[in-house]
Amino acid sequence: MKLLTFIEGNVVRPGVLHDYRVIDLAAAGLPVDETGDLMRIVRGGDAMLERVREAIDSSTRRDFDIDDVKVIAPLFNPSKIIAVGLNYIDHCEEAKLPVPKEPVLFTKWSNSITGPYDDLSWPESVTREVDYEVELGVVIGRRGRNISEKDALDYVCGYTVVNDVSARDLQFANAKQWDRGKSLDTFCPWGPYIVTRDEIKNPHDLEVCTVLNGREMQKSNTSKLVFNINQIIAYASQGTTLMPGDLIPTGTPFGVGFSRTPPVFLRHGDVCECSVEKVGKIINKVNLE
Ligand code: MG
Repeated sequence: MKLLTFIEGNVVRPGVLHDYRVIDLAAAGLPVDETGDLMRIVRGGDAMLERVREAIDSSTRRDFDIDDVKVIAPLFNPSKIIAVGLNYIDHCEEAKLPVPKEPVLFTKWSNSITGPYDDLSWPESVTREVDYEVELGVVIGRRGRNISEKDALDYVCGYTVVNDVSARDLQFANAKQWDRGKSLDTFCPWGPYIVTRDEIKNPHDLEVCTVLNGREMQKSNTSKLVFNINQIIAYASQGTTLMPGDLIPTGTPFGVGFSRTPPVFLRHGDVCECSVEKVGKIINKVNLE
């Protein structure tokens, strides 16, 4: 299933996409908190997903054409965004950094979250070297700690697309401030859906792609991850409780802008499309302040 959060009539609601129709899960009686996003649905685990399935099949469902609603970020305030750096060998090479021996984790602050079709924006007084990074995102569906690699995928609610937007001048300044450089407002566009894990038979064989202004910039496959999703979840949960809704962008492949000659940085008016096979595509325009 494709879970999403949408605005219709100025009200934020959780929904599910089925045959180009967005089914209103609030109207179907599923729990919603004051934000209107999918958090209560994700927290409800597999039993709640069964209720979502029933809402799709209900003869009394309230639904909308996908083109008549605004799709926004699936979750606005996950307890954590745990991103993985340097997780494709060819990206390590282009960044001129050694392939790590264990996962390199950093965070994106939740203020950076924005919608799958919203504008990217930043003050040019703060950064002039903003870059794109397409990534497969994993959304955690069950609370867990010290999760084994073998069981890790059981803790996944579903998969999504993330652009790990990065200000390189901030990221590499002052003894490397990755979190700051990747956490400006609008630097974490994601969605448009959480595709539930039952629909993705093998998350380790998905094409990932970035197209900037119609030109292909990144193209790879999650089969080339240095640390796979099982290993990332096991590592990240060592002594740290993962919560439903936690978002894990799993790393970006070769082709980012800063490693190119000459470098490519995002400019006002650019249109950046990031896609993951079977999961979806997000499209964000740069609209500077
Ligand atoms: Mg990244």
